[in-house]
Amino acid sequence: MKTEFIQQCIKGITQAIIDHENDIESLDRAIGDGDHYINLKRGCLAINSMTNDFNAMPSSEIFKKIGMKLLSTIGGASGPLFASFFLELSKSLENNGDDRNGFTKGFASGVQAIMARGKSDFGEKTMLDVLIPVSELLNNLVDGDIFDVATQIDRKAHEAMLATKDLLPTKGRSAGLGDRALGHIDPGAKSCQVMISAVCQEILKGKK
Ligand code: ADP
Ligand code: MG
Repeated sequence: MKTEFIQQCIKGITQAIIDHENDIESLDRAIGDGDHYINLKRGCLAINSMTNDFNAMPSSEIFKKIGMKLLSTIGGASGPLFASFFLELSKSLENNGDDRNGFTKGFASGVQAIMARGKSDFGEKTMLDVLIPVSELLNNLVDGDIFDVATQIDRKAHEAMLATKDLLPTKGRSAGLGDRALGHIDPGAKSCQVMISAVCQEILKGKK
Protein backbone atom coordinates (compact mmCIF):
# COMPACT_ATOMS: atom_id res chain seq x y z
CA MET A 1 0.00 0.00 0.00
CA LYS A 2 1.47 3.34 -1.05
CA THR A 3 2.11 5.95 1.64
CA GLU A 4 0.77 8.61 -0.71
CA PHE A 5 -2.56 6.79 -0.94
CA ILE A 6 -2.80 6.56 2.88
CA GLN A 7 -2.05 10.31 3.12
CA GLN A 8 -4.77 11.07 0.56
CA CYS A 9 -7.23 8.89 2.49
CA ILE A 10 -6.45 10.76 5.72
CA LYS A 11 -7.26 14.06 3.99
CA GLY A 12 -10.38 12.60 2.37
CA ILE A 13 -11.64 11.12 5.65
CA THR A 14 -11.05 14.37 7.56
CA GLN A 15 -12.95 16.40 4.97
CA ALA A 16 -15.80 13.86 4.90
CA ILE A 17 -16.14 13.92 8.71
CA ILE A 18 -16.22 17.74 8.67
CA ASP A 19 -18.81 17.69 5.86
CA HIS A 20 -21.03 15.38 7.95
CA GLU A 21 -20.77 17.32 11.19
CA ASN A 22 -24.52 17.89 11.42
CA ASP A 23 -25.52 14.26 10.78
CA ILE A 24 -22.97 12.76 13.15
CA GLU A 25 -23.51 15.26 15.93
CA SER A 26 -27.28 15.10 15.84
CA LEU A 27 -27.31 11.29 15.86
CA ASP A 28 -25.11 11.19 18.95
CA ARG A 29 -27.25 13.88 20.52
CA ALA A 30 -30.35 11.75 19.88
CA ILE A 31 -29.11 8.45 21.33
CA GLY A 32 -25.77 9.33 22.96
CA ASP A 33 -24.21 12.38 24.57
CA GLY A 34 -23.48 14.46 21.46
CA ASP A 35 -19.68 14.23 21.50
CA HIS A 36 -19.03 11.72 18.70
CA TYR A 37 -18.37 14.33 15.99
CA ILE A 38 -16.04 16.37 18.16
CA ASN A 39 -14.20 13.20 19.28
CA LEU A 40 -13.64 12.18 15.67
CA LYS A 41 -12.65 15.63 14.49
CA ARG A 42 -10.05 15.84 17.25
CA GLY A 43 -8.64 12.45 16.17
CA CYS A 44 -8.60 13.40 12.47
CA LEU A 45 -6.82 16.70 13.08
CA ALA A 46 -4.22 14.99 15.27
CA ILE A 47 -3.53 12.42 12.53
CA ASN A 48 -3.38 15.15 9.87
CA SER A 49 -0.67 16.94 11.77
CA MET A 50 1.51 13.78 11.61
CA THR A 51 1.20 12.89 7.92
CA ASN A 52 4.58 14.33 6.88
CA ASP A 53 6.29 11.93 9.29
CA PHE A 54 4.75 9.02 7.35
CA ASN A 55 6.84 9.58 4.21
CA ALA A 56 9.55 7.01 4.90
CA MET A 57 7.43 4.50 6.86
CA PRO A 58 6.00 1.12 5.87
CA SER A 59 2.19 1.00 6.09
CA SER A 60 2.24 -1.24 9.20
CA GLU A 61 4.23 1.43 11.04
CA ILE A 62 1.90 4.21 9.83
CA PHE A 63 -1.20 2.40 11.13
CA LYS A 64 0.57 1.72 14.45
CA LYS A 65 1.27 5.44 14.85
CA ILE A 66 -2.34 6.22 13.91
CA GLY A 67 -3.68 3.73 16.47
CA MET A 68 -1.49 5.12 19.24
CA LYS A 69 -2.45 8.69 18.41
CA LEU A 70 -6.17 7.87 18.37
CA LEU A 71 -5.89 6.20 21.76
CA SER A 72 -4.61 9.43 23.27
CA THR A 73 -6.84 11.88 21.38
CA ILE A 74 -10.35 10.57 20.66
CA GLY A 75 -11.53 9.57 24.12
CA GLY A 76 -15.09 8.34 24.74
CA ALA A 77 -16.08 4.75 24.06
CA SER A 78 -15.08 5.00 20.42
CA GLY A 79 -11.44 6.13 20.95
CA PRO A 80 -10.09 2.83 22.30
CA LEU A 81 -12.21 0.94 19.76
CA PHE A 82 -10.83 2.81 16.74
CA ALA A 83 -7.35 2.59 18.26
CA SER A 84 -7.56 -1.19 18.63
CA PHE A 85 -8.70 -1.47 15.00
CA PHE A 86 -5.59 0.33 13.72
CA LEU A 87 -3.16 -1.37 16.12
CA GLU A 88 -4.39 -4.80 15.08
CA LEU A 89 -4.44 -3.82 11.40
CA SER A 90 -0.81 -2.77 11.82
CA LYS A 91 0.20 -6.11 13.38
CA SER A 92 -1.58 -8.06 10.69
CA LEU A 93 0.06 -6.08 7.85
CA GLU A 94 3.43 -6.69 9.43
CA ASN A 95 2.79 -10.44 9.44
CA ASN A 96 0.86 -10.88 6.19
CA GLY A 97 2.10 -8.07 3.93
CA ASP A 98 0.16 -5.02 2.78
CA ASP A 99 -1.13 -6.11 -0.63
CA ARG A 100 -4.91 -6.50 -1.20
CA ASN A 101 -4.96 -9.90 0.44
CA GLY A 102 -2.95 -8.68 3.45
CA PHE A 103 -5.13 -5.59 3.86
CA THR A 104 -8.31 -7.68 3.69
CA LYS A 105 -6.96 -9.93 6.46
CA GLY A 106 -5.81 -6.88 8.41
CA PHE A 107 -9.23 -5.24 8.18
CA ALA A 108 -10.85 -8.44 9.49
CA SER A 109 -8.34 -8.60 12.38
CA GLY A 110 -9.05 -4.96 13.20
CA VAL A 111 -12.78 -5.65 13.34
CA GLN A 112 -12.13 -8.68 15.60
CA ALA A 113 -10.11 -6.40 17.90
CA ILE A 114 -13.07 -4.00 18.21
CA MET A 115 -15.36 -6.93 19.03
CA ALA A 116 -12.96 -8.15 21.72
CA ARG A 117 -12.40 -4.71 23.20
CA GLY A 118 -16.08 -3.71 23.09
CA LYS A 119 -17.36 -7.19 24.04
CA SER A 120 -19.76 -6.66 21.18
CA ASP A 121 -20.99 -8.35 18.05
CA PHE A 122 -23.12 -7.84 14.95
CA GLY A 123 -26.70 -6.64 15.58
CA GLU A 124 -26.11 -4.51 18.70
CA LYS A 125 -26.55 -1.13 16.98
CA THR A 126 -22.92 -0.07 16.93
CA MET A 127 -20.16 0.68 14.42
CA LEU A 128 -19.75 -3.09 14.06
CA ASP A 129 -23.02 -3.27 12.15
CA VAL A 130 -21.21 -1.47 9.33
CA LEU A 131 -17.70 -2.85 9.85
CA ILE A 132 -18.61 -6.57 9.97
CA PRO A 133 -20.58 -6.66 6.66
CA VAL A 134 -17.92 -4.50 4.99
CA SER A 135 -15.17 -6.84 6.18
CA GLU A 136 -17.10 -9.88 4.91
CA LEU A 137 -17.68 -8.28 1.51
CA LEU A 138 -14.01 -7.26 1.26
CA ASN A 139 -13.11 -10.87 1.86
CA ASN A 140 -15.57 -12.13 -0.78
CA LEU A 141 -14.27 -9.65 -3.34
CA VAL A 142 -10.55 -10.03 -2.61
CA ASP A 143 -9.80 -10.99 -6.23
CA GLY A 144 -12.29 -8.56 -7.79
CA ASP A 145 -11.62 -5.46 -9.88
CA ILE A 146 -10.58 -2.71 -7.42
CA PHE A 147 -13.01 -0.10 -8.80
CA ASP A 148 -15.89 -2.57 -8.64
CA VAL A 149 -14.86 -3.45 -5.06
CA ALA A 150 -14.87 0.25 -4.07
CA THR A 151 -18.34 0.76 -5.58
CA GLN A 152 -19.77 -2.32 -3.89
CA ILE A 153 -18.16 -1.59 -0.50
CA ASP A 154 -19.48 1.99 -0.58
CA ARG A 155 -23.00 0.69 -1.28
CA LYS A 156 -22.80 -2.03 1.39
CA ALA A 157 -21.58 0.42 4.07
CA HIS A 158 -24.47 2.76 3.27
CA GLU A 159 -27.07 -0.02 3.41
CA ALA A 160 -25.64 -1.39 6.67
CA MET A 161 -25.56 2.09 8.27
CA LEU A 162 -29.24 2.67 7.42
CA ALA A 163 -30.17 -0.75 8.80
CA THR A 164 -28.98 0.27 12.31
CA LYS A 165 -32.15 2.40 12.53
CA ASP A 166 -34.25 -0.66 13.28
CA LEU A 167 -31.86 -2.26 15.77
CA LEU A 168 -32.22 -2.22 19.52
CA PRO A 169 -29.03 -1.01 21.23
CA THR A 170 -27.40 -3.42 23.66
CA LYS A 171 -23.91 -1.86 23.93
CA GLY A 172 -22.57 1.58 24.75
CA ARG A 173 -24.37 4.65 25.95
CA SER A 174 -27.53 4.11 23.90
CA ALA A 175 -28.20 0.69 25.46
CA GLY A 176 -30.09 2.27 28.35
CA LEU A 177 -32.60 3.84 25.96
CA GLY A 178 -34.12 0.56 24.82
CA ASP A 179 -37.08 1.13 22.44
CA ARG A 180 -36.51 4.89 22.43
CA ALA A 181 -33.42 4.36 20.27
CA LEU A 182 -35.49 2.75 17.51
CA GLY A 183 -35.73 4.89 14.38
CA HIS A 184 -32.29 6.47 14.96
CA ILE A 185 -29.14 5.51 13.09
CA ASP A 186 -26.21 4.66 15.36
CA PRO A 187 -23.67 7.53 15.32
CA GLY A 188 -20.64 5.21 15.17
CA ALA A 189 -22.21 3.29 12.27
CA LYS A 190 -22.71 6.61 10.49
CA SER A 191 -19.16 7.83 11.08
CA CYS A 192 -17.69 4.51 9.91
CA GLN A 193 -19.83 4.65 6.76
CA VAL A 194 -18.65 8.22 6.09
CA MET A 195 -14.99 7.19 6.53
CA ILE A 196 -15.32 4.03 4.42
CA SER A 197 -17.09 5.99 1.71
CA ALA A 198 -14.27 8.56 1.71
CA VAL A 199 -11.69 5.79 1.13
CA CYS A 200 -13.85 4.30 -1.67
CA GLN A 201 -14.00 7.73 -3.33
CA GLU A 202 -10.19 8.02 -3.14
CA ILE A 203 -9.91 4.64 -4.90
CA LEU A 204 -12.47 5.63 -7.54
CA LYS A 205 -10.54 8.83 -8.31
CA GLY A 206 -7.94 6.54 -9.89
CA LYS A 207 -10.53 5.54 -12.50
CA LYS A 208 -11.04 9.05 -13.82
P1 ADP B 1 -19.30 7.74 23.97
O1 ADP B 1 -20.37 6.73 23.75
O2 ADP B 1 -18.40 7.38 25.11
O3 ADP B 1 -19.83 9.13 24.04
P2 ADP B 1 -18.61 8.19 21.19
O4 ADP B 1 -19.79 9.09 21.14
O5 ADP B 1 -17.33 8.74 20.63
O6 ADP B 1 -18.33 7.66 22.66
O7 ADP B 1 -18.92 6.86 20.37
C1 ADP B 1 -20.18 6.25 20.37
C2 ADP B 1 -20.19 5.10 19.36
O8 ADP B 1 -19.26 4.09 19.76
C3 ADP B 1 -21.53 4.40 19.28
O9 ADP B 1 -22.38 5.05 18.37
C4 ADP B 1 -21.16 2.98 18.84
O10 ADP B 1 -21.13 2.87 17.43
C5 ADP B 1 -19.76 2.83 19.35
N1 ADP B 1 -19.71 1.91 20.50
C6 ADP B 1 -19.96 2.20 21.80
N2 ADP B 1 -19.78 1.11 22.57
C7 ADP B 1 -19.41 0.09 21.74
C8 ADP B 1 -19.08 -1.30 21.90
N3 ADP B 1 -19.08 -1.88 23.11
N4 ADP B 1 -18.75 -2.01 20.80
C9 ADP B 1 -18.71 -1.44 19.59
N5 ADP B 1 -19.01 -0.14 19.36
C10 ADP B 1 -19.37 0.60 20.41
MG1 MG C 1 -20.90 10.10 22.52
